[in-house]
Amino acid sequence: MEILHPARIEVSLKQLRKNIQIIRNLIGKRLYCLPLKANAYGHGICEVAETAQIAGVDYFAVACLSEAILLREKEITKPILVLSPLQNSELFNVSRYDLEISISSIEQVKQVQKATSLGPIRTHIRIDTGMHCTGVRLCEMNDLFQVLQKTPSIDVRGIYSHFATADAFNDSFAQKQWQEFQRTISHPYIKKSKLLRHICNSGGMFFFPEAQLDMVRPGLMTFGILSTDSLAQNIHVAPCFELHAQVCFSKIVQKGKGIGYGQSYILSKDARIVTIPIGYGDGYLRALSNKGEVLIRGKRFPIVGHVCMDQLMVNVGDQDIQVGEDVVLIGKQGNEEIAVTEIAKLAQTIPYEVLCLFKSRLQRKYLR
Ligand SMILES: *Cc1c(COP(=O)(O)O)cnc(C)c1O
Repeated sequence: MEILHPARIEVSLKQLRKNIQIIRNLIGKRLYCLPLKANAYGHGICEVAETAQIAGVDYFAVACLSEAILLREKEITKPILVLSPLQNSELFNVSRYDLEISISSIEQVKQVQKATSLGPIRTHIRIDTGMHCTGVRLCEMNDLFQVLQKTPSIDVRGIYSHFATADAFNDSFAQKQWQEFQRTISHPYIKKSKLLRHICNSGGMFFFPEAQLDMVRPGLMTFGILSTDSLAQNIHVAPCFELHAQVCFSKIVQKGKGIGYGQSYILSKDARIVTIPIGYGDGYLRALSNKGEVLIRGKRFPIVGHVCMDQLMVNVGDQDIQVGEDVVLIGKQGNEEIAVTEIAKLAQTIPYEVLCLFKSRLQRKYLR
């Protein structure tokens, strides 16, 4: 028997397909790589991959081996690039699951070489043009290229980098990264080997269209979330993620009483307080205490008191709202909408984190 928790995530696979189509039209014949890290930004990695594979995505990128294996077990057949460095013990799974991995140093080439008894391993060289996390340092690049040319067991398929700041036109740091990357890919070894060259995330794709090269990797944009207004005005993707619940308790509380842990909110007049069965234990940020809003009957109402582990309280004033009524915490109801970007701002974080935090206790319902 399926037991539906009264709070749930609704993912519109229909909207996801539309977003993919819009981005496909923007990039023409270039390859479309969809990053599916962190359970596909909270949307559910398997369902998103299955839909995206049919809807026209060419490549997937994941953070770690377990995500890649999960996809292969779900019969995802498109190429999968693992972005994070792998440990020795993990490398033996790479050919077994037909994966592509990232190379960030000469030491990694040697490590991979030792693990290639099962056949050549496909790789993408990751270049550090400014993030300074993983990636080959520019000063080591020539040496790395030389080593790779002498290592036939490593089948180099691509070369890529990642923008640290690409959310505005003419961002000077992103421009510097783009120039470094252009210098790198003009190297005779890269030109000769006809590698897949890629650097653009969502922001890069829009603000540096000349940097789209052979493949793009838009994550957040595929999920319909645009981090700046100029993006929103120009690209007509829409979110496919909504967070729904139902009122689980409703009562009138008197003026002067405090709500919840720490009694951080005191009622200035009698009001109806409704309880919603979702809390930080589900991934709904406690930072939204006394700040966030929810939609009931198409209207906004404030969250009052601290968000608890399993529930939160909402002040609906003199509205006669009863147990069982629908609540939208993210998404649309009537003419109102609460966007992930709005929540991120209130909680002083970024939309990526808001989405990734939702736990598996919240069931995901897929609208096809
Ligand atoms: C996460 C990630 C992306 C996608 O970034 P968005 O800002 O979501 O478009 C692209 N490339 C790499 C290497 C990533 O880690």
